[in-house]
Amino acid sequence: MSTHPTHDHALNRRDLLRGAVVLGIGSSTGVLSAVVGAGSAAADEAVGPTAAPAADPAANPAADPALAQPVVDPGARAALDATAPAPGILVAAPTIASCPTWGAAAPRGTISTVSTDPDKILIHHTASGNVTDYSQAAGYQIARDIQQWHFANGWVDTGQHLTVSRGGYVMEGRRGSLSRLQNSNGMVVGAHAPGQNDKAIGIENQGTYTNATPPAALWNRLVQLCAYICQQYGIAPSRIYGHRDFTATECPGEAFYALLPQLRTEVAAALAGTAWSVTIDNSSAGFAAGTSWLTSTYSGERYGANYRYATPAEASDLATYTATIPSAARYRVEAWFPGVAGYNASTPFVINTGSGTSTVRVDQSTGGGAWLSLGTYAMTAGSRQVVAVSRWTSGTDYVIADAVRITRV
Ligand SMILES: [Zn+2]
Repeated sequence: MSTHPTHDHALNRRDLLRGAVVLGIGSSTGVLSAVVGAGSAAADEAVGPTAAPAADPAANPAADPALAQPVVDPGARAALDATAPAPGILVAAPTIASCPTWGAAAPRGTISTVSTDPDKILIHHTASGNVTDYSQAAGYQIARDIQQWHFANGWVDTGQHLTVSRGGYVMEGRRGSLSRLQNSNGMVVGAHAPGQNDKAIGIENQGTYTNATPPAALWNRLVQLCAYICQQYGIAPSRIYGHRDFTATECPGEAFYALLPQLRTEVAAALAGTAWSVTIDNSSAGFAAGTSWLTSTYSGERYGANYRYATPAEASDLATYTATIPSAARYRVEAWFPGVAGYNASTPFVINTGSGTSTVRVDQSTGGGAWLSLGTYAMTAGSRQVVAVSRWTSGTDYVIADAVRITRV
């Protein structure tokens, strides 16, 4: 018996099972595939820590009805670019706080404008601290600080057009940027990237993303904001860039820059109206597991009220997640589980694409409490057990079945 942390649910159960667990099972993905289904569908995206930022349930800023955005004529913008939303599909405007709302100082000079619409979006980070105060007030204060730094550069106002706080609050940057965006009518000339200031909307994301990835609240709002900008100006999502693409700078940080392909994909999905995602927790109707899968609330990293755990066994005894895949398309599959030292370091997750299965082994002894990407898969439409957690692995540490999320990409 290997050593384990003391779990509230652990001791009696483990003692009962002592000796009954087959140690050192030589399991393989081939065995699992044979158990669950024929064939193998390889993930074509690196499996590992999710590229998506860790979920942060703390921040969900409420909409401010006083700042409601005007509705644009969908037909007027759809003609501009093939990737603009189809008529009838509108990207909801995020709430954007105007300069007076967040307490900006008055500009110290004349702000130039151009009548031409921007043709791209540049993503920046402010290189300020990764604060854990996700409140609106904290975001506004940082915006005021940044404006002062930009004044110190000799600039007439905040350099960028828009700012997103770590809590997901969006603010107008250089004064006048908001009305231009709302009216799809040219732009104010910014000061965020030489050579691009009259062509690119600059978005500053509060924080430093050299190593850290942005919080989910920031990320989700940035996707919405970019989709809205693309809609208003007819910009293709493929034209979302990092500052470093145009200037010798680390900005927007190595970790954030690595997420730009995902940002373009999510913005495109939002524009196309194809966003589809389902989350299946172990309490959901789509979840099923046998009686060997017990229930625990041990770890605070759980998704929802509780999760299920089982000892490894050389048996086909799966915890399954059934979903209806709406169309033949590519889907990202993610898992959420508590990471606890003493949970299994090689838990098999079996993904059934409809045309084959693929097994991904997950280390559940660490890295929990966030969505972990299991890869992106081409799937066929239909209702089936899309994901299964298997007990068929080595060791004696518990395998965990908590929540999975399936998202069309
Ligand atoms: Zn920058």
